[in-house]
Amino acid sequence: MTSFSDYLDAVPKVELHLHIAGAIRPETLDELAVINELRLPQPAAELYRFGDFYEFLDALRLAALALATPQDFRRVAYEGIEDLHRHGNVRHAELFFNPHYHMPSGIGYPEMVDGLIEGLEAAERDFGVSALLIACIDRSVCLPSEALQMLDWISQHPRQKVVGIGLGGAERAGPPLLWVEAWRQAARLGLRRTAHLCEDNQALFEAPPAHFTHCRDALGCDRLDHGYNLLADPTVTARAAAEGVPFTVACWSGMEFNRVPRRQRIRAMKEAGLTLVPCTDDPAIFGTNMGHCWRTLFADLGWGPAEARRFSLDGLAASWLPEAQKARLRAEFLASLDALEATLDPADHRLDLAVTRRA
Ligand SMILES: [Zn+2]
Repeated sequence: MTSFSDYLDAVPKVELHLHIAGAIRPETLDELAVINELRLPQPAAELYRFGDFYEFLDALRLAALALATPQDFRRVAYEGIEDLHRHGNVRHAELFFNPHYHMPSGIGYPEMVDGLIEGLEAAERDFGVSALLIACIDRSVCLPSEALQMLDWISQHPRQKVVGIGLGGAERAGPPLLWVEAWRQAARLGLRRTAHLCEDNQALFEAPPAHFTHCRDALGCDRLDHGYNLLADPTVTARAAAEGVPFTVACWSGMEFNRVPRRQRIRAMKEAGLTLVPCTDDPAIFGTNMGHCWRTLFADLGWGPAEARRFSLDGLAASWLPEAQKARLRAEFLASLDALEATLDPADHRLDLAVTRRA
């Protein structure tokens, strides 16, 4: 018999919301900072402790500056996939990278993207995890003209693995309607589109439900990141549920005070009929991993194998893999879920939240 905790770890998963700059192991960040002569104010383990959402964004941008050569990008991409494989059995990942974060290190777009791809390909060979890339804009530090510049780089250096664009950072600094021209240009280039919205680390007026309408109707997003504040507007929530648009939710908030409320919002989103994909967001900085995220969520909300199966398959359906590859992986997921459920003790579907405090 498999314990429920081991079963949750083994459920096949996808990761659709992870920022590479937020997934650098602390020891790797310390090493790269020395090699590339970046002065960190504290060792990475301390840098990864912060007081609020805006301090976290500063730590994320600083960590990104430690990557300067294609080998650095290769290493963090490889290690990021290794961690997803080892902690939670992620089988496919779509990773955000922010080209503008790294430019001050002197690296160009094609060099960084080729380094990332090399790391992803090596990790796929070693761990059997497929991966795609999403070029991302941080609206707190980039202008809409820089999003268009990023799209120029993508079109001048096309790579099969770069399949979409995303929008992160503080919503108050760049609401969705500022990005219409860039997101339309991305559509013309055949790129998939997502955006962070309705994040509960910001006030409701900064990250309001209206952003859903803007992201869907004006930006053409077919998947969205976060979405917790959506619940403040039942009409918009009902529309999101009816359209089945997937939300990548980060189940372990970087802000300690927000962890319990965040999980309750995720529960409410599920009960409202929204399609959810549990993800890690910035696992190294937040001190979590995919297995830990799932165990904590399921322990706190009392969910069982039915929810696990649903998240597993909904996540895969929400991925931007080509349909044939998705169908192959779906068959593998179904076989694996059937086998896992057969070994699960039907009386043991509960986890003690106390055992999930640490990653
Ligand atoms: Zn994010």
